[in-house]
Amino acid sequence: MNNVNSILNSSKGSVLRTMSNINFFTKKNLSDLEHVRLGLLRKNSVYRHGVTRFLPRNKWNTSTPNPYCVKIVDIHPLLLEPEWSIYREIIIFHEFIHCLGYLGHNKEFYKLESLWPTINQKKEQGQKFMQTLKQKNSTWKWICPKCNMNVLRQRKSLGKYICKKCNCKLIDEAI
Ligand SMILES: [Zn+2]
Ligand SMILES: [Zn+2]
Repeated sequence: MNNVNSILNSSKGSVLRTMSNINFFTKKNLSDLEHVRLGLLRKNSVYRHGVTRFLPRNKWNTSTPNPYCVKIVDIHPLLLEPEWSIYREIIIFHEFIHCLGYLGHNKEFYKLESLWPTINQKKEQGQKFMQTLKQKNSTWKWICPKCNMNVLRQRKSLGKYICKKCNCKLIDEAI
């Protein structure tokens, strides 16, 4: 798992370097964030691509949370693949804003998030990433025997669905 940690650490370094060029974050913000540990979500997570897990409130040294109140930031393991490096850093940056005490997804939060250089790719990358996860998590293919139309699903169709075009019952094929 050394490889995982080295990718996580170099991603953290890269995100912090980019943040140091954004005219908002202080030196203290960045050195505090250095202490945040990065880990991985479960690989079957589809909708969640990153999460900041805070320590219980009674362990906070302050009333508004800071990076020292963070237990770990977990990101999706598939984000470690090189093809997702842009999206990976967007996700880590997003979680780092939470770590700095901006907990909710409000106007202020999104204004900060929008300072990230590749933020205009977030939506497209996020959708592509989710699509990939859905495919990876599917175990069944529902197929129309007539026109070959097919959809990927986690469950069997069990003869309950028909092809809209051909009016044919879909059949299940294991992936
Ligand atoms: Zn968030
Ligand atoms: Zn059909």
